[in-house]
Amino acid sequence: MSVTPSHIIEYLYCPRFTYFEYVLGIPQYEERHYKVMKGRNMHELKLIRNKDYLRKRIGVKEKYSDQYLANGSLRGKVDEVFLLSDGTMAPLDYKFAVYKDQVFETYKTQLFCYAVLIEENFRKPVNKGFLVYVRSRNRLMEVAVTEADKAKVQKAADGVMEVIEKNVYPKGTKYKKRCVTCTYRNICTR
Ligand code: SF4
Repeated sequence: MSVTPSHIIEYLYCPRFTYFEYVLGIPQYEERHYKVMKGRNMHELKLIRNKDYLRKRIGVKEKYSDQYLANGSLRGKVDEVFLLSDGTMAPLDYKFAVYKDQVFETYKTQLFCYAVLIEENFRKPVNKGFLVYVRSRNRLMEVAVTEADKAKVQKAADGVMEVIEKNVYPKGTKYKKRCVTCTYRNICTR
C-alpha cells in the first residue's frame, strides 16, 4: 500500500484515527475540511488554470500539470509542479476555499507531502510551495517548506504504514481537547 496526504493529515491529528478507520474499518462520519471535492469544480478549475498571470508572478521556468507522484510509501496528485528560475522546484495546489487570515496546517501538510514526492521524483530541492484560494479571487499564498517539515511527513507516512500493515495500536494525540468532539471517543482507550 501507499499513503496519501489525507492519511498523513489524519495521522498527525491523532494516530488512532488511522487505526480505527483503516484497521478496524470504522469510518469517521465526518466531512472534514481537507476533503475538498475538487471533482465538482473541474470546469471552474480549468478556466483558472488557463490564466498565466499567477505563474508569471512566481517566476516559473517550466510547469508540469497534474503530476501523479509516488515514492516507496507516499503518493499524491499535484495540481502543478514548477521549476523555478533558481533551479529549485515547488508544488502549487488550488483550494476552492476562502482565505481566512492564515494557512491551515492541513493545507501546509499537503504541500510538505508534495515537496517530498517532487524531490524524490524530479531530483531537485523544494523549499517552498504555493496555494491558490479560488474563493478569494485567486489569492496566491507562498508556504515555506523546511527539512524538518519534509522529515515530519515522511515519518508520519512510515507511522501510517506500520499501523495499517502491522495492526499496531498507536498512542493517541497528546492534545486531549481533540478527544472531546472525537467520533471515536466511546471506543478509544485513552
Ligand atoms: S478519543 Fe482522542 S485519542 Fe482517541 S482517537 Fe479520538 S482524538 Fe484520538
